[in-house]
Amino acid sequence: MSISTAHRVRPVAQAGPTESLDDTLREIPLPPYVTGEDVQFALRAVVVHAPQRWSGGTICRNDANPHPCRLHRWGARVLALRGLRDADIDALIERGDPAASLPPRPSA
Ligand SMILES: [Zn+2]
Repeated sequence: MSISTAHRVRPVAQAGPTESLDDTLREIPLPPYVTGEDVQFALRAVVVHAPQRWSGGTICRNDANPHPCRLHRWGARVLALRGLRDADIDALIERGDPAASLPPRPSA
């Protein structure tokens, strides 16, 4: 004789609110080694995702997120890895030319 237990399938509430919360803050992973192609992507990213003054503050010209948006931050970090200083990056953004030639790599 067996007692059949009523199967109660209860939906398990997934408690993981932190995952989606900081989704917009999560950084795009940097390449382990910055290739010339990465640098071109990065340059395009910072130029295309340039800051734009708006009544509410400074936003990304491309996706209207608060500036610097995720892609802009990624691009700036890749360019920094490539050896560019903040001033160099700012100058490139100001120039607005995604095909601009970069200063030579500081260390061989
Ligand atoms: Zn953007």
